[in-house]
Amino acid sequence: MIPVTKTFIPSLENYTSYLEAIWQAGYLTNNGPLCRQLTVDIAGFLGIPNMELVANGTLALQLAIKALSLKDEIITTPYSYVATINSILWEGCEPVFVDIEPQTFCINPDLIEVAITEKTSAILATHVYGYPCDVARIQKIADKHKLKVIYDAAHAFGVKLFGESILLHGDCSTLSFHATKLFHTAEGGAVVCKDIEVAKRVFLMKKFGHIGEDEYLDIGINAKMSELHAAMGLCVLPKVNDIIASRKERSDWYDEKLESSLLQRPISQVGLEYNYAYYPVIFPTHEAMMRVRQALVDHHIGPRRYFYPSLNTLPFLRQELKRSCPVSESVARRVLSLPLYVDLEKDAIHTICGLISAA
Ligand SMILES: *Cc1c(COP(=O)(O)O)cnc(C)c1O
Repeated sequence: MIPVTKTFIPSLENYTSYLEAIWQAGYLTNNGPLCRQLTVDIAGFLGIPNMELVANGTLALQLAIKALSLKDEIITTPYSYVATINSILWEGCEPVFVDIEPQTFCINPDLIEVAITEKTSAILATHVYGYPCDVARIQKIADKHKLKVIYDAAHAFGVKLFGESILLHGDCSTLSFHATKLFHTAEGGAVVCKDIEVAKRVFLMKKFGHIGEDEYLDIGINAKMSELHAAMGLCVLPKVNDIIASRKERSDWYDEKLESSLLQRPISQVGLEYNYAYYPVIFPTHEAMMRVRQALVDHHIGPRRYFYPSLNTLPFLRQELKRSCPVSESVARRVLSLPLYVDLEKDAIHTICGLISAA
């Protein structure tokens, strides 16, 4: 079986060495030494300030919404993982869907302004597959209308634009360190904040709003990362450059073989340093995608319909939230993310590309 992705597993000796340190310290959570070290190491690796580690990427989104005191309407993208809009709904806000650009699959800045009302508090957009949103135009719109900006950057670990981390844009960017992501801590995530005061609020909120012995300063939740998860992160982080290089090599193999096909790929922008987080392909029709998917499944290859369905069509949404987003709906019906992981063999990629050409 060739899955769509495979978790990068560090050496057991490496992980065990951190376990020994944990056993010696006798300290399993509550911002212990490994969490503090991982915070410093990730911030240094990415070149970012004000980062708070949390228990997962969904809580990162929820905390960003809470720490920025967002309410009412949040303009968002229909083309993302369901966690993006679940977080908006869970925090009691309303997602207002704005369709995506056909080239990058990120939110279309041309369509944002007409969706703004007096109840809009923010724009929450996803850097889809690690390809950045049009951050300059989104910031301009946000400034003009006094809106906050959150980026769901779950796919964008290590992505740079003109030499700088993409996470420096927006009021907050959120990361997921789930086992299926490029950099992982098994389960985990982070909130990156422009303003240190917002980061301090996230720090407080992720531990019940409780400091010292008996001071309760703010509404809070439990979103702390444990030392066991931080230990996994400390093992994986030194390998991230190798992980990205290996994924790039495999993406290039796909590119070579699929060059002459009719498949659409996301278009890279000027100044982008990509992280090769995914290898999505868009087929000309839904039927063509389903034919290829079946051919791959018959050969024990598991691509994913990532992202499907378009989030504006989710069955549990109130009818008036289901605004039509024709580009997102069309892409969601035609997309497949192909297998991509560190030790995926060249032969497997050739088999996959052969099946795509033949179907
Ligand atoms: C993975 C993912 C999340 C959720 O992260 P978890 O750590 O699994 O909670 C949110 N948004 C996007 C775009 C994702 O891909």
